[in-house]
Amino acid sequence: IGEPAERMKGLPTQFFANLVRKANTQVDKGRDVINLGQGNPDQPTPAHIVASMQEASSNPLYHRYPPFSGFAFLKEAIANRYQEDYGVELDPEKEVAILFGGKTGLIEISQCLLNPGDTCLVPDPGYPDYWSGVALAGAKMSLMPLTADNAFLPDYSAISPAVAGEAKLMFLNYPNNPTGAVAGPEFYKETVAFAAKHDIAVASDFAYGALGFDGQRPISFLQTPGAKEVGVEFYTLSKSYNMAGWRVGFALGNEKIISLINLMQDHYYCSLFGGIQEAAATALNAPQDCVRELNATYQSRRDVLFAELDKIGWQANRPSGSFFCWLPVPGGYTSSSFADLLLEKADVVVAPGVGFGTHGEGYVRLGLLTSEERLAEAVQRIGRLNLFG
Ligand code: PLP
Repeated sequence: IGEPAERMKGLPTQFFANLVRKANTQVDKGRDVINLGQGNPDQPTPAHIVASMQEASSNPLYHRYPPFSGFAFLKEAIANRYQEDYGVELDPEKEVAILFGGKTGLIEISQCLLNPGDTCLVPDPGYPDYWSGVALAGAKMSLMPLTADNAFLPDYSAISPAVAGEAKLMFLNYPNNPTGAVAGPEFYKETVAFAAKHDIAVASDFAYGALGFDGQRPISFLQTPGAKEVGVEFYTLSKSYNMAGWRVGFALGNEKIISLINLMQDHYYCSLFGGIQEAAATALNAPQDCVRELNATYQSRRDVLFAELDKIGWQANRPSGSFFCWLPVPGGYTSSSFADLLLEKADVVVAPGVGFGTHGEGYVRLGLLTSEERLAEAVQRIGRLNLFG
């Protein structure tokens, strides 16, 4: 073949694919690697959801093409969940799009809204897929630094009027990957005002919406007055129901953006397998004890991890939500050299902060994605390297 298309040239290698490859080289050597690097939930999908899929898979209706934009019952299920959990009213037909995981929508929205050369505001550090979507659209990024000093929230007053005037889309993500920060109502109010003033569409990535600690329940961007006029929220079953392998997500909110995403999805995918849609509806409609239990599990893992960090003198702030811990690297290391050291000398995989953007330098991200015992062991192994205090 000849030269690939221009749009492929700006596309970086998928960050986590590299991380997994690196970890596997140690596993191949027969080492007992503890992988805290990737955000892949370790527990099984709750049994009632699996049973629903098993039963639904023999329904001949689902063996045919699903309806474009998906089954109405699933759109109603997510609308009802948002109503019950957040008091947000959504029209299932006009304000809901069913996605192949949140990831597809997060990439598609850039293609729906950005022309080549347009500007998109992207958090730094942030989830790398935002960059991929912007790159595929041929647009450019303007980075919004997230720093500890500002509670890992973007500071809109630091965005120049010229950049704000050029920007057409902005990504936000709370509870935040990678920092574990959670946003409150005041920040979202400020966001709606900023977006409305400069005519910027907001893409609120609420992938970790179900995971908030110490009794603090994360709020949805769509709870903010005026939110639907300026943007959409992306929600996924991957984290809240341990369904990462099922690939079910949603875009919710602004009617115009939802219709663009649905149009794009109709061309790419038609929709998800009906059995998966039925199981997803079961997840959303059934009593939510499994979500509460999952949240409690992550909080307890977090507390075990931080008790161990304390013992080895590794000082850091606890995350308020998500299942990630954002820990400063000790002096003399970059995030990458420190992550390499932990892999080689402690058989522990962590994600180097720089993989999430330049403001991620100086940190590593640890996922609470293994048992309390393994988390404790990971920190004990790191402690034996005597790098702290
Ligand atoms: N957004 C964030 C911040 C994530 O961390 C992830 C997954 O790791 C996603 C979106 C995508 O989730 P999915 O495509 O599984 O719905």
